Amino acid sequence: MNTLLLKDNENDINRAGEILRNGGLVGIPTETVYGLAANALDGSAVKKIFAAKGRPMDNPLIVHIQAIDDIERFDLVSDFPEKAKKLAEKFWSGPLTMIMPKGSAIPDEVSAGLDTVAIRLPEHKTARAVIKAAGVPLAAPSANLSGSPSPTTAQHVINDLGGRIDAVVDGGECRVGLESTVITLATEKPRLLRPGGVTVEEIESVIGKIDIDDAVLNKLADGEKAASPGMKYKHYAPKAKVIMLKGSDSAYIDFVNSNSGAHTAALCYDTDSDRLNVPTFPLGNKNDCLSQAHMLFNSLRKIDEHPEIRLVYARCPSTEGVGLAVYNRLIRAAGFEVKDLEKL
Ligand code: AMP
Ligand code: MG
Repeated sequence: MNTLLLKDNENDINRAGEILRNGGLVGIPTETVYGLAANALDGSAVKKIFAAKGRPMDNPLIVHIQAIDDIERFDLVSDFPEKAKKLAEKFWSGPLTMIMPKGSAIPDEVSAGLDTVAIRLPEHKTARAVIKAAGVPLAAPSANLSGSPSPTTAQHVINDLGGRIDAVVDGGECRVGLESTVITLATEKPRLLRPGGVTVEEIESVIGKIDIDDAVLNKLADGEKAASPGMKYKHYAPKAKVIMLKGSDSAYIDFVNSNSGAHTAALCYDTDSDRLNVPTFPLGNKNDCLSQAHMLFNSLRKIDEHPEIRLVYARCPSTEGVGLAVYNRLIRAAGFEVKDLEKL
């Protein structure tokens, strides 16, 4: 299959809409990461997403809408809880996904057989324009091959899925660079399943205290059931071994400089690079979690372009605000290996 590279203009967006209406797959830019979209109301179109990505069929997809009214118009949920309405009002459009009891229009392929559905209204203008052009909500997981870092540019999508999908719309680099925050409102007390660009602190300022799922910071025990099926899969791991190092700037720099060989690299803050004697990959600014979120996946992909690198020492980000999302992705890339330099 020849994958069309579409531009961010009216003509090409209409073309993308037509492909989607006809049951095809299109990579689309959003403010979080690029999504691989199909008509969410068409089970056989949605099935193709799993085949193209090599995604396990028991990992459900997020349904993307272009206006809050789409939820009722297309019968996407059987209950739209008050708290969900409040969060929608405050954080949509934006990087927040809400899980609610599913409506009759949702095919089993989207919800992976669960009785709930995940819904998001993206902020990215192009994403909303494509959904509008398609005339239906779009199911869209990240547009990467399962197991590789989520794509934050159209080129990443082509690298992973070129020849396997109908088209990609190039909308430039993603603003946030990490997948959306996922919260379930289908449980008695709202629970954070995945941290992202909308923070716990922001959510709690609207609906009060929420629970944080164990899988956000910790490895699931063998056989433990994941509240969000995606959490049980190994994610975002580059081929090189990654170890997170917790400690001060100088502890990090001293440790890396005295424990590195020919195959070692560092995933570090801007201010560290000049002081390190190994190749470095950027993890943004120490005091700016948004810049860390923006850089992380691109740097993990860059590391994979260097097969000579076998070990990466990464800075351990703060877990405050958007830092929690950066930490959550990085600790998975590191197979949960964190070394505390103050305790050596
Ligand atoms: P992705 O779009 O690739 O970032 O993946 C979507 C994430 O949302 C995965 O981690 C899914 O497991 C999660 N998800 C989607 N629908 C549901 C649902 N109904 N219940 C729990 N988690 C969900
Ligand atoms: Mg994904």
